[in-house]
Amino acid sequence: MVFRLLKLESNKTSVIYSKIKLMKYLSVLFAGILFYSCTQQQAQITAGVSEELAQQRKAVLSEINYDLSFNIPAQKAEKINGKAVVRFNLKEPRQNLAFDFKGDTTKPYQVISNGKSAEISIKNGHLVIDKSNLKVGQNEIQFQFVSPDWSLNRNPDFLYTLFVPDRASTAFPCFDQPNLKAKFKLQIQIPASWKAVANGSVEKEQTSDSIKTLDFRLTQPLPTYLFAFSAGKFDTISRTQNGKTCVLYHREKDEELKNNTDSIFSLVFRSLSWIEQYTKISYPFEKYDLVAIPSFQYNGMEHPGATLYRASSLFLDSHPTQQQFLKRANLIAHETAHMWFGDLVTMSWFDEVWLKEVFANFIADKVVSPMFPNFNFDLQFLLAHYDAAYSVDRTSGANAIGQKLANMKDAGSLYGSIIYHKAPIVMRMLEQKTGEAALQKGLQQYLSQNAYGNAGWKELISILNKPKSEGLPQWSDAWVNEAGRPHLIAIKKGNDLIVEQKDPRNKNRIWSQELNLAFAENGKVHQQKISMNAEKIRIANVFTGANPEWIYLNAQGKVYGFVALDSITSNYFLNHFSTLSDDLLRASVLTDLSENLYEGKLPPEKYLNMAINQLSVENNAVIYESLLSSIERVYLYKTTSLQQQKLCSKLETTLWSEYAVRNNHQTALINCLMKVCKTEASMKKFLEYLGNNATHPDLKLSTDQQNTLAFQLALGMPERAIRILDEHEKCITNPDKKAGFQFVRKSLNPAKNERDKFFQSLLLEENREHEPWVEQALAYLNHPSRQSEALSYIRPALDKLQEIQKTGDIFFPQSWLTSLLKGHNSAEAAAIVKQFLADHPDYPENLKQKILQSADHLLRL
Ligand SMILES: [Zn+2]
Repeated sequence: MVFRLLKLESNKTSVIYSKIKLMKYLSVLFAGILFYSCTQQQAQITAGVSEELAQQRKAVLSEINYDLSFNIPAQKAEKINGKAVVRFNLKEPRQNLAFDFKGDTTKPYQVISNGKSAEISIKNGHLVIDKSNLKVGQNEIQFQFVSPDWSLNRNPDFLYTLFVPDRASTAFPCFDQPNLKAKFKLQIQIPASWKAVANGSVEKEQTSDSIKTLDFRLTQPLPTYLFAFSAGKFDTISRTQNGKTCVLYHREKDEELKNNTDSIFSLVFRSLSWIEQYTKISYPFEKYDLVAIPSFQYNGMEHPGATLYRASSLFLDSHPTQQQFLKRANLIAHETAHMWFGDLVTMSWFDEVWLKEVFANFIADKVVSPMFPNFNFDLQFLLAHYDAAYSVDRTSGANAIGQKLANMKDAGSLYGSIIYHKAPIVMRMLEQKTGEAALQKGLQQYLSQNAYGNAGWKELISILNKPKSEGLPQWSDAWVNEAGRPHLIAIKKGNDLIVEQKDPRNKNRIWSQELNLAFAENGKVHQQKISMNAEKIRIANVFTGANPEWIYLNAQGKVYGFVALDSITSNYFLNHFSTLSDDLLRASVLTDLSENLYEGKLPPEKYLNMAINQLSVENNAVIYESLLSSIERVYLYKTTSLQQQKLCSKLETTLWSEYAVRNNHQTALINCLMKVCKTEASMKKFLEYLGNNATHPDLKLSTDQQNTLAFQLALGMPERAIRILDEHEKCITNPDKKAGFQFVRKSLNPAKNERDKFFQSLLLEENREHEPWVEQALAYLNHPSRQSEALSYIRPALDKLQEIQKTGDIFFPQSWLTSLLKGHNSAEAAAIVKQFLADHPDYPENLKQKILQSADHLLRL
């Protein structure tokens, strides 16, 4: 009965609770009947953690403590046995209690409840303890179990847990929801030659025979998704600063470490002290250690005390670009910011996962920007976020920042560019609205009020809305709860300016924001701020009577939306791009020209000609690298092979001559050249570098770059592919990288039937263990130059999507789709996607959105 009642809206809950109270008294009289009906309700425990189950458990459980032990054998094939003692306070044992556990449920479970062997039932991934084994107040339940390998990421000589968002329950029985925070005590047994790291520090270590037993200290309250440990053959380096010691666990060798470790530690300590000052809260957990994992699924994951990083994101190549430096600094600051935003204060439910991401990004930008004094922060922000947010928001599958989530099992589908890139833009708008100091104070209050607990966006808005600031809740609604972006059009009417805001979904939505008008008359630029808060506004006497050379609404690069350029303006920008002397204006125009291209208002050749010409004169490093990535993207994915034939010689000649003179951008240039290279001359040159590049005087490539080069050459020269790949494989010394190469090279086999076979193998779960490898391989299988031979992959790969979501990590469905579809631009490919959508009218909404996002370029054909 409580399950049902809790389904009602929250404003009715007080009524419900008084009804529950009344029923408590009645239950003395009608105990039998009531318990009967409760049992009936509980039979409906469904797969995953539904919102109802989460709310029901939240209402009765508190003071949760997990005492966990895992026995980890050296051999990957041997099972991991575990034991969990879960202690908690129970308000009322009127219901059976469901623990979440997705382990092997075919064998009987030994469960001891409050000292007595207990009866349990196993339902849809839950171990349900009968209420007769529970009591009011303190309870203790003991489980013995086998942990399936699902989220333990077991490799031959190391493993790491990754439980976000609801995967802790794949490893041990627990309450796998973010608002039931608990303290964790961990003991693990590992081979004596291994090291291990967890949220807490090691309290006790014993070695007997070949087994090492480690006891870790009790943690602060954590949600299950942040509980973590890693173990295996790791080396460690540690540094101490201001009384804080940080240990880095890694598998890299000296060559990779030498240019990186100092900067990694310095970034960590700098981030910690900056955030302590900003929040006025000392680092809230016992210790801060880092673990560098080869081919880690994400760039980083913020487990307190054991933050995981993708090794290649921490250890940069020998000649990193400015962008790579900046990205790493941003990543470390982002993960560190999570210690406060997400870890100390956590969202109550995963529908607000965006909030921890936006806070982390927002803080990271603040931490990092003073470290790069030569960088224009606004420019950096513009190029880092807008394009990425638009890549989703321009599509018919766009999602809002705030999304609904009925069950934790679907939480992975909430992640994406909107959370990571649109949300920071909205956060910056909020800061503009409230003022920097007021927002900082509001965040301090928000963190201290909810420390070690849970809170969301509403709580923040209500703190900031005191005293009531004008329209804050409405503003928040349009930007947070609505999907898509406004189309903004400037029209000159006589000397007046009309600005229109159109809703691409024709729902008359209004996104209020500030526009930065700029226009040029007789070579003189005029600027003006415009508050855009209606569908259409008219501003009198903006112009003086001359014909403007261009009119532009986004001169500061802060406007969010599709800024439609009239043909006079876009032609002016294309022909005079280099004369736009203000960096921010130039970057903003570059972004909006590219959006006009994606919206079909600008031919790709014109855009590419402008961008290629600009390379030799561009002086801003960030814009330069942005030009390169934009050239690569548009050239590979937006042009026909005929257009490529016309442009390839000009493009490659320009890139090689830039390579000869631009010392600071050699890595970015060579990366771009490898991807776009088509002419025989370039191929031959590259071939020379590949064989003996280690000693080649003018080109030093990292292992990753060499691998990419080998792949690209195999693609461009199918007749020599096998030899190129064989020879290169012999040169790879790092075993993790060699394994990745051996996997991906199968996608470059010149024989179509071999590629077909390899594609079929990717449809089997056991072959998708290393997701970054799978993404790379799937993209090569569907490379634009092989798209006609890859049409047959589209339907089966789409048919697998639901399984991919179930078995893969949270970003995998999206990257699976992107790798599959980005190389296709034919009508046949579009027809296959449309047919798939037509065949599945009831397809899960979140996955359908992801298809619409990844297939946007096809669906626009
Ligand atoms: Zn994050």
